[in-house]
Amino acid sequence: LVMTAGLEIESDRGIFRKDHHSRAADSLRLFRERDGYIQYLDREGVGPQDYADIRRTEEQIREETARLEEQAGRSMEAIKADGDAVVFYSERDSGNYMGAAVYDSRFELWIISESDMAGILRDFFKELATYLGLFFVVSALLYLLFNRIDKVEKRRLEELFHQSRHDDLTGLLNRAGLIDQIHTRINSHQPFSMALVDIDNFRGINDRFGQDFGDRVLAEWSRCLRKNAGEEAVVASLGGDEFAIVTHLCEPEQVSNYCWRLLGDTSHCIQTGALELQLGASIGAAIFPENGHSFSSIVRSAHLALHKAKRNRNEVCLFRNDIETGYLRRVHIEQRLRGALEPNLITMAYQTQVDAYGQVIGMEALARWHDNELGYVPPNEFVSVAEASGLMVQLGDYVLDHSLADFSLLPRSEEAPLELSVNISVLQIMQPGFAESVLDKLDYHQVAPSELTLEITETLFMSGHTKILPVLNQLRSVGIRFSMDDFGTGYSSLSLLRTLPIDELKIDKSFIDHINADQQSRNMVESIVAIAGNHGMELVAEGVEHKSQADALIAMGCRRFQGFYFSRPVPIERVREQLAAYVS
Ligand code: C2E
Ligand code: CA
Ligand code: CA
Repeated sequence: LVMTAGLEIESDRGIFRKDHHSRAADSLRLFRERDGYIQYLDREGVGPQDYADIRRTEEQIREETARLEEQAGRSMEAIKADGDAVVFYSERDSGNYMGAAVYDSRFELWIISESDMAGILRDFFKELATYLGLFFVVSALLYLLFNRIDKVEKRRLEELFHQSRHDDLTGLLNRAGLIDQIHTRINSHQPFSMALVDIDNFRGINDRFGQDFGDRVLAEWSRCLRKNAGEEAVVASLGGDEFAIVTHLCEPEQVSNYCWRLLGDTSHCIQTGALELQLGASIGAAIFPENGHSFSSIVRSAHLALHKAKRNRNEVCLFRNDIETGYLRRVHIEQRLRGALEPNLITMAYQTQVDAYGQVIGMEALARWHDNELGYVPPNEFVSVAEASGLMVQLGDYVLDHSLADFSLLPRSEEAPLELSVNISVLQIMQPGFAESVLDKLDYHQVAPSELTLEITETLFMSGHTKILPVLNQLRSVGIRFSMDDFGTGYSSLSLLRTLPIDELKIDKSFIDHINADQQSRNMVESIVAIAGNHGMELVAEGVEHKSQADALIAMGCRRFQGFYFSRPVPIERVREQLAAYVS
């Protein structure tokens, strides 16, 4: 013990720590090389009384020295000189041992520690098992953790993908989602049809009730559309009030029937809050592959069809090639028309109106346009383009200005009064300040209000433009007269006629055309004559082309006529000549 303390075996040299030889077969021994005596031996079951017995003989010492030199790869002198521990392996009592030996030159002692290999391995594997266990537990925990993170991440990605393919407001597929669907069908050459649905005058709802209410209406309406489109249909929202429906139907008749049914089913009242709304829609449809080979070309075709349907409202239109030609022509007309107003390229023609004696009592102003690129463009055509493209107000102003200027230069007298009729679009009347602008123009051109008649088509009143009534009444109160153009072609009821500020009915040309051949036309004209008489309205028959028609009309009691039989629309100079000829 004294020796051990003196050598500080356990504290100084880490390789001799107590736990390295804690097993029964392990040992720590000090032995003096000089005489081979054991000085200290820490091995179970061996005490100091046994030291003499296990003394090393010279022979054994030599053997052990040689073995140590061999295992250390150094000479004994070198080992002793550097004082480092030498590791060695030995075999004894049929056991394998690992040991470390250090020479302490101060006491001439070898300090040798031996440990049982089996024990070392057992300890090693026990330790290894603990670490492996720990490793597996940590790995399993990490695996579970990452698995969970992966799942959350995947769900998040799916959510993001869903969001990127769906519309927030309606929950329907959005444009990107629709493109995916269409690409799948196009790539697998599956025929399909695409219908674009657009709510009629939805902007009006937003303007009247605000954006929030408009959003609620859209959400409600899209639900209705989804429900009525059928299980198999893909319904997408393209933003705003435009929706797309993709179905496997690809026969034009099937598609058309489907769209009409859809229009009927979705046009019933929808309830939003306390308000009940009647929403109409227009549908344009195109079929793959007949009307386009790619997403964009199919959408374009469907858009062109929708564009056409929207012109009539509450209508279904399937794409045809002539729709495209028609559309391109309208675009061309719009472009050219913009440049035609400023330099006065639109001219006015006047078609006189005569009484039963053939005397000129008025004239209708009709716009004429001969364009360098397009040639003669009929007014029907450019007026409808102007209405659709926001040019109508400008065009209407132009027409009113020019015709009043022309009219003001004509000779009029109290004995031979003359009236000027000008066609007016409802878009002009709805324009704020319309009444003031008409009165200003009359004043400027020195034309009396009683000399002016404004012609409005019958269909205008039916679209329920209650806004225009006060304007009509204001103008009428100063003496301007209103004429209902193309009368008989719309569906205005008699009760409606009574409530409207109308001074004159203009029987549509289609009735005059068949007045001598078709009893129904005759009956119709007779009824209109009676209606005008009962309501105290003036009556004009337009489109009179033959004497026989004029005679028949006179016999029925009609007193005012307009038509090619009397005069074609002509420049103002010719009207002046006609007037002069009559006076002379
Ligand atoms: P509308 O107001 O019904 O004009 C009468 C149309 O019938 C004119 O065609 C006129 O030329 C034609 N017409 C008159 N008598 C006869 C006849 O005996 N036989 C035949 N076959 N046709 C006859 P136009 O000038 O081509 O005008 C067509 C339409 O264009 C007009 O129909 C009117 O709705 C619109 N329009 C013309 N000028 C203007 C305008 O300055 N402003 C507006 N808002 N619309 C206009
Ligand atoms: Ca007219
Ligand atoms: Ca007419």
